Amino acid sequence: MTFADDMHADCKKDVAQLRLQLEAASRELEETKNVARNLLDSLKEEQDVLARAKAKDETLLSSIGDGLIAVDKDGVITLVNPSACAMLGVKEEEVIGNKIYDILPVAYENGTPIPREERLIYRAIATRQMVVNDPSQITCFLRKDGTRFPSSITATPILFKDELVGAIESFRDITHEREIDRVKSEFVSLASHQLRTPLSTINWYAEMLVAGDAGVLTDEQKKYVEEIYKGNQRMVELVNALLNVSRLELGTFVIDPEPTDVIAIAKDVVQELEPKIFERKMDMKESYAADVPSMKVDPNLMRIVFQNLVSNAVKYTPPEGHVTLAVESVDGPEGSKRLQITVSDNGFGIPKDAQAKIFTKLYRADNVRIRETDGTGLGLYIVKSILDQTGGGISFVSEENKGTIFTAFLPLEGMRKREGTKALGS
Ligand code: ADP
Repeated sequence: MTFADDMHADCKKDVAQLRLQLEAASRELEETKNVARNLLDSLKEEQDVLARAKAKDETLLSSIGDGLIAVDKDGVITLVNPSACAMLGVKEEEVIGNKIYDILPVAYENGTPIPREERLIYRAIATRQMVVNDPSQITCFLRKDGTRFPSSITATPILFKDELVGAIESFRDITHEREIDRVKSEFVSLASHQLRTPLSTINWYAEMLVAGDAGVLTDEQKKYVEEIYKGNQRMVELVNALLNVSRLELGTFVIDPEPTDVIAIAKDVVQELEPKIFERKMDMKESYAADVPSMKVDPNLMRIVFQNLVSNAVKYTPPEGHVTLAVESVDGPEGSKRLQITVSDNGFGIPKDAQAKIFTKLYRADNVRIRETDGTGLGLYIVKSILDQTGGGISFVSEENKGTIFTAFLPLEGMRKREGTKALGS
């Protein structure tokens, strides 16, 4: 074989190899093209899915009757739905990009502006928790024209991979519900008022019968009349409580603060309950701090608070149980001072599933309903309404069959005066 033949053979080998490599490369290219095509296809599909989801979200947002406002974590509005714009009397472009605290102010029903830190949306962002407005403290949104409407509000934080990105406030105008409530309260007020006269008549005559004014009764007759008297007394209590509730709800009750010895009222209430405490052989302890000053409060309202809390503790604790009433002055937030009333007992307690409802009207927990027939389920509602409306508050901790501690407070400055048409009765 000549040198030229060798070369020719080598060249042929190289060409064959090159062809093979070329073929492989072109196959790879084809595959890459396929992958790219598939990627593009799925990207397009995803784009379609996203566009469809966006269209769905937009329709959802615009068809929803509740107002919705989304903000970023600094409170800057990023989205408002048409219902929110209609309720607030604003245009989308007027509010987007502005801080919700500046552009959409809120106030309490009496017109007092609600500070930023107390707004639900601020609290949802600060605590990363969903916050719902307290129905006893109605929040009003201010419209652009200066008018306002009461609203029911929920603020929910938006978390993405555990990172806070903003929050959503949803709200509803509850003017209509408030009006219905008002009419209902007026009706209850009127009906209770009318019921008082015949109840008083029954009371008088039952008292006269027991006293023997119509002749001496046999023991059995006396027993029956006493039952009528007791039943009637319970009805009087219920009617009075209903009257108080309607006055609290209509906001027509007077708050008439005067310098008051709060501890004297507490002692008086315990003394009034003495027969029941004695009958049930209860151990009642009282602890009054020496530094509690005379306070400008409405003595009538103060008495209702003490009466309900102490009588509940006595009523819902089995015989020979322990009840403690403590009145002291303690530190409140931001250097303020408060009057603190603590009523603790080692009684039946409040079951876990009943705890959220304990301050609602007419609610009585099952564990006491089966034991103690007396009660209207209105006392704590009245106490909470009084404290809420006079700048105070109330909370409790309780464990079933272990006991309950109620803690109520009022600012030491006392209650603010309010003109009204009626006083609350105890
Ligand atoms: P009432 O005592 O007339 O039923 P309240 O409004 O005062 O109504 O109390 C509501 C409910 O709260 C009671 O029915 C009871 O279930 C519960 N409750 C209140 N105080 C206590 C307490 N000290 N211990 C246990 N349960 C209590």
